[in-house]
Amino acid sequence: MTTAVDVRGVSKTFPGSAGEVHALEGVDLEVREGEFVSLIGPSGCGKSTLMRLIADLDAASGGTIEVFGKSPDRARRDQDYGIAFQQAGLLPWRTVGANIAVPLELHGMPSAERRERVAWLTELVGLTDFTDRYPDQLSGGMQQRVAIARALAERPRLLLMDEPFGALDEMTRERMQSELAGIASETGAAVVFVTHSIPEAVFLSHRVVVMSPRPGRITDVIETGFGADVTRDDALREDPGFFARVTAVREALHGVPAGGGRERR
Ligand code: ADP
Ligand code: MG
Repeated sequence: MTTAVDVRGVSKTFPGSAGEVHALEGVDLEVREGEFVSLIGPSGCGKSTLMRLIADLDAASGGTIEVFGKSPDRARRDQDYGIAFQQAGLLPWRTVGANIAVPLELHGMPSAERRERVAWLTELVGLTDFTDRYPDQLSGGMQQRVAIARALAERPRLLLMDEPFGALDEMTRERMQSELAGIASETGAAVVFVTHSIPEAVFLSHRVVVMSPRPGRITDVIETGFGADVTRDDALREDPGFFARVTAVREALHGVPAGGGRERR
């Protein structure tokens, strides 16, 4: 099986007035094709920095990153992945529909097919009635949904999502989680997903990667046991195994060693 994302020994240092900030140090992470991996950890532990490095929005200070065996720069130019980050990053002069259509236009999809795909995507994110509105006529949560639809437009092999559901109300959020899980499993896309929500991470992921700050590094990796064959629905949210994994991730975040015992930093 091919590797979607391969991060090896990556470090990232930012200059700062009070000395260098070690945003990342010694980070190793391999995401397989079709695998859903969440990154979780306190603010400032380098989650966004790691995502930006993978997405070629910044360069690592050390180590190597490959996306489908290519440099991040090459993968970006080949449009190998879709991005939905905290800031929706919509084009203000384009309507909702026209924003979602951007990647499709770039790839030269014929207009009839494009209209069909845009209609499906706007319905998916519950914005059919807003297709002709402009971003400044939408709430933050709605803008975020447009960004998600745009990221999914091309059914990319890899999705990079940095707290994409942070601005959504709980009902919409749970619906988007199920839809995202469905889309990822249908299209076989790998997903790297940043969240602050432990249940969200467990619900969506095959693996949850726990990070800690100063310097930002990976401290734990928890297999959820919920693979691609597991349907992400309400039954899973109420499954005792689900709660057990939520507890495991919480303890990892709080530095409690698995099975109790000695305190770990
Ligand atoms: P997270 O997304 O986990 O909250 P970030 O990746 O945003 O964390 O930040 C990790 C650390 O790197 C923080 O200490 C942050 O202040 C610092 N940092 C991030 N981006 C920059 C930047 N462009 N310049 C200086 N410091 C930065
Ligand atoms: Mg962040």
